Amino acid sequence: MENSLFPKVDYLRISITDRCNLRCFYCQPSGEVPIFHPHQILSYEEILQVVQAAAKVGFRKIRLTGGEPLVRRDLHQLISRLLAVPGIEEVTLTTNGVLLEDLASSLFTAGLRRINVSLDTLHPLKFYRITGNNFFHRVRRGLEKALALGFEPIKINMVVIRGINDDELEMFARWSLATPFIVRFIEFMPIGPRNGWHPSKFVSIAEIGSRLNNLGTLSPLAPVASDGPAQVFLLNSSGKIGLIGPLSHCFCQSCNRMRLTPEGRLRPCLLSDQEIDVRGLLRGNGSEDDLVRLLDQAVLTKSRPVRSLEQWPQSGSRGMSRIGG
Ligand code: SAM
Repeated sequence: MENSLFPKVDYLRISITDRCNLRCFYCQPSGEVPIFHPHQILSYEEILQVVQAAAKVGFRKIRLTGGEPLVRRDLHQLISRLLAVPGIEEVTLTTNGVLLEDLASSLFTAGLRRINVSLDTLHPLKFYRITGNNFFHRVRRGLEKALALGFEPIKINMVVIRGINDDELEMFARWSLATPFIVRFIEFMPIGPRNGWHPSKFVSIAEIGSRLNNLGTLSPLAPVASDGPAQVFLLNSSGKIGLIGPLSHCFCQSCNRMRLTPEGRLRPCLLSDQEIDVRGLLRGNGSEDDLVRLLDQAVLTKSRPVRSLEQWPQSGSRGMSRIGG
């Protein structure tokens, strides 16, 4: 049964680990975020069971994220098995790119094509300041490798934070003119405990758009499903730019996604702490039918809180690295 007022919920974002090899100050700052014990997080077998049931409920698209998904061993095996699940049409990945150079070939061979790479700065020193690590050049090499192998599209996700990296908007936009990368600018969200969010650090996509107008013409492209919540523009008829404004443009009404946390909690809404314990069912002899019923119920009762900027919860109990950004 579906609620026809809203789009079909067919997109599951799975955080396969809360571990990360970066320590971005706004996401998983050094020493601040407890890490799950390996037996707490879902095994690949368990993730597959969830996806098989999800496909029966109508989920078609899977995104693997984290933490940093590439730190989990043998990811290519999970990807090829997920792609073989009847009903699953697409498996995509969000990564910080640090391990991409080493793993891109095995991921490509497994069937992965669409990747999002998070990169908040094009300056190596600033990369160190934001992430606590010196891996800027590794990420750049990973991107080159992914391009050479034929991954497409490769989207670059940049979280814009005033006073930190908003001076690089034009540089990132120019990058989209010189490469096939789709550069997406994302509003900084007040998610997770002590993530440093403050109104003074927030840059709206309206402001980003107007600052990019200095570079030339931004022409809106007709929306396609793979844009997700991004508004996509052509810059000077060649560069592709995405603007993602979760705070200034509430997209709850068009939300088609749910999240699965590393330890097996289903989160129907990013902004709500409502969670459904899937691992308990998996490890307590629940049948596939039980799992299908649980997922079906979650889809039916998915909340869609319409929020303006002022109504956003300040923080919440989990940061992005534990939810799956
Ligand atoms: N490690 C992978 C990566 O870096 O892409 C996947 C997980 S990471 C949590 C996913 C994305 O969430 C990154 O692009 C990160 O910048 C973004 N993110 C984390 N905290 C955020 C926040 N408070 N506001 C906006 N984006 C955030």
